[in-house]
Amino acid sequence: MNISIIGTGYVGLVAGVCFAKKGNNVLCVDVIQEKVDKINNRFAPIYEHGLPELLKQVVESGHLSATTDLKNAVINSQITFIAVGTPPREDGSANLDYIYEAARGIAEAIKSKNSYHVVVVKSTVSPGTTRSLIPIIEQGSGKKHGVDFGVAMNPEFLKEGVAIDDFMYPDRVVVGSTDKKALEILTEVYKPFTQNIVKMSTPDTAEMVKYSSNALLATKISFVNEIGDLCKRLGIDVYEVMKAVGMDHRIGPHFLEAGPGFGGSCFPKDVHALIAKANEFGFDAKLLKTVLEVNRLQPYYAVNLAKKKGLRQNIAILGLAFKPGTDDIRDTPAIPIIEELLKEGKHVIAYDPEAMENTKKIFPNIEYAKSAKEAVDKAEMVIIVTHWDEFKNDSLYRGKVVIDCRDIIKDKSNIDYEGLCW
Ligand code: NAD
Repeated sequence: MNISIIGTGYVGLVAGVCFAKKGNNVLCVDVIQEKVDKINNRFAPIYEHGLPELLKQVVESGHLSATTDLKNAVINSQITFIAVGTPPREDGSANLDYIYEAARGIAEAIKSKNSYHVVVVKSTVSPGTTRSLIPIIEQGSGKKHGVDFGVAMNPEFLKEGVAIDDFMYPDRVVVGSTDKKALEILTEVYKPFTQNIVKMSTPDTAEMVKYSSNALLATKISFVNEIGDLCKRLGIDVYEVMKAVGMDHRIGPHFLEAGPGFGGSCFPKDVHALIAKANEFGFDAKLLKTVLEVNRLQPYYAVNLAKKKGLRQNIAILGLAFKPGTDDIRDTPAIPIIEELLKEGKHVIAYDPEAMENTKKIFPNIEYAKSAKEAVDKAEMVIIVTHWDEFKNDSLYRGKVVIDCRDIIKDKSNIDYEGLCW
């Protein structure tokens, strides 16, 4: 199939290379010329585990290319995925401007198309958004929904760091539309990935599946962090507790690891957006507000522990990305931790295998080390924020004061050790 994808970020580009790998012809569209050039030159503009190799393969095989020409990409495809960002507004609600801009561009393009076109919203959008594109596209193109084009919602569940695997082998694919033909075509596209395609009766339902999933996962993390903070005070190992808790099949073993809080581009933003949506209807989402508040405080616990130990002048921060396998630093707990240390007048030496370039834009004046060893060697105190594999080397930390937010140090001999939750 000929597929166009608008937005070449973590979702759009990963989806693009995976569709291309399955033999589709994919045209990726972005407004940023630099990203487009990089992709066409076989370089991934973002870091995601496994992406550089796969991108190189599909560009070389001629199955994927990038362009800034949205109109041409849409005209030359049967199906267009919208994967642009939906960042938070001041009030927490989702900013849908990029979605509407993409929809207007699609409308303009399909004006001159004679065949049926499917428009799929893949970005995370608040309930009702996908439906609201129908009149925009109808008015902009003069075409009729259900006849000349169909609109569907297809939320994305990939996790950064393992995004390629998640896309290639999804637990399920959720699609929602009132248009039968759009659902049929989407099902064809996803058949090579899974048989488990869950068809929702409306796009709104599919939109709500995505928000509910992220809100529940965020709730699990804040729950386990709260239990971890309590366990710490009680002198109980929360990691041992959760291992046994997770064996209950009603609960499951995932997302039960206490740590410095969730970050990334999705959980904080999507929980905020759901709260804002509830507000619109005069509904107070108390549980979700508390989930965010528990999460907001968690990085400060790490700094408080360091203060209790006596802050040292040179402090190494290991891990800047919000999780391993990505260079994404959006809402990473490393940011409030570094801010607090700078307020205290401390010298921060940061290291992350992938996320330093992004972090330099926020903290241009801290020191960046070339390796974990160099960062630790230059510091008297270490705060482990992200659980990259290369930090799981106990011998790195001998003779140092360590705040371990991820429970990665096993042999604590000759380390002045403090776990965040244990
Ligand atoms: P991103 O910010 O990494 O990428 C968005 C891209 O869209 C950027 O490259 C931007 O230049 C481009 N863009 C914006 N407007 C455009 C336009 N009019 N035409 C063409 N390109 C345009 O975002 P992302 O992380 O890929 O997320 C995209 C959406 O998917 C969001 O709604 C997000 O919530 C959702 N989502 C993200 C993840 C994740 O892990 N990152 C997972 C699931 C869902």
